[in-house]
Amino acid sequence: MMARYFQLDQEKVPLSATANRVLAEDVVASMPSPSFDNSAMDGFAVRAEDIGRASKENPITLKVVSISSAGSPSELEIGTGECAQCMTGAAIPNGADAVVMVEDTSGFLDSKSVQIFCEVAVGKHIRTKGEEISEGDLLIAKGTLVTASEIGICATFGYEELSVSQKPKIAIFGTGDELVEPGNDLKAGQIYNSNLYVFADLAEKARAEVVMGDVIKDDKDSLRQFLSKALATCNVVISSGGVSMGRYDYVRDVFMELGVKEHFWKVAQKPGKPLFFGTGNSTLIFGLPGNPVSSYIGFMEWVWPAIETMLGEKENSPLTGILMETFPRETIKHRFLFGQAWLDDGKLVCKPSTKVGSHMLSSSLEANCILSSEPGDGQLQPGDEIRVNVMPWKHIQ
Ligand code: AMP
Ligand code: MG
Repeated sequence: MMARYFQLDQEKVPLSATANRVLAEDVVASMPSPSFDNSAMDGFAVRAEDIGRASKENPITLKVVSISSAGSPSELEIGTGECAQCMTGAAIPNGADAVVMVEDTSGFLDSKSVQIFCEVAVGKHIRTKGEEISEGDLLIAKGTLVTASEIGICATFGYEELSVSQKPKIAIFGTGDELVEPGNDLKAGQIYNSNLYVFADLAEKARAEVVMGDVIKDDKDSLRQFLSKALATCNVVISSGGVSMGRYDYVRDVFMELGVKEHFWKVAQKPGKPLFFGTGNSTLIFGLPGNPVSSYIGFMEWVWPAIETMLGEKENSPLTGILMETFPRETIKHRFLFGQAWLDDGKLVCKPSTKVGSHMLSSSLEANCILSSEPGDGQLQPGDEIRVNVMPWKHIQ
């Protein structure tokens, strides 16, 4: 039943616009590569047996009968005692079975003959048809993220457009009477909205498209208005704030009023316990709590994998690292903290941020990962293993 929420349609996109998209179909080799025998060097296409034991002291002279250059193959067949000038990438003329590089000859002179200064084995400096890829080979599997390598290979095989998954359309909204946009003055008790800026960037990094975004007052009418449009037009709705137990936390109420089916509300995790997840028609709805660390981590741990699934992307399993410092495990909740992971003598090691409050967004500045522990008694100790979810745009040093 859930699967239909995850199936996004595909669309054809010109090759030059496919970077960072996810392939919706296998790409198969339309021809062998190389598609014809060609020269790996600038030199002379020869018949290896004609050259025997040629050397600088005892050169062999061959008759130059034609020129084969990249894009202009020679039609002439090479006979005994003959050769052709043959440039890098040019087709090997019929009859020739090796290439002598120009440095081992008397050179590309305007002469009807050339002196060859070395012997060659059959096949030398020839890139043979199909040596890299055979026609019909699977080049790139469906679900692969398109990068320079994939674009390059698709161009190599002549694909001018590719089928990719459509980007999920996302609505993001924040709630809170206290929220003010950066650029305005703060009055007493007000704070700047930061979560929507974080969501917008994360959504784009997750390869989705934010089509609606707003900060909404803690007021049911405004919430209803935004949400009914979002539910009708978006694949995913993500909110921040307003799903806790506060007097003005109306987001869940309005979701329910609008017919959203609640799958769960409240998760045994810290931070981010009041997380809401529901569905409406074919829309996934994530109600993330307002604290900036809760909503950031909630996005990375819950929303990001859902977007990857919708795109049909191959799943990346998290890494396991060894703690270098203690980690504050919880008895009945999963515990998430921003952290740093790095390689020490080839082993992945890590430590959590020292700022543990869910309001302390600066804990994400130095972080390159999210560390998380299962519930359990007592702190995790240095030397213990822990799950490391590396933020894909950061680096492990
Ligand atoms: P709530 O989940 O609405 O109870 O909010 C929890 C905390 O997160 C409160 O301190 C809010 O002021 C704060 N908060 C809510 N939304 C945002 C936001 N968009 N940006 C920054 N902080 C927020
Ligand atoms: Mg609030």
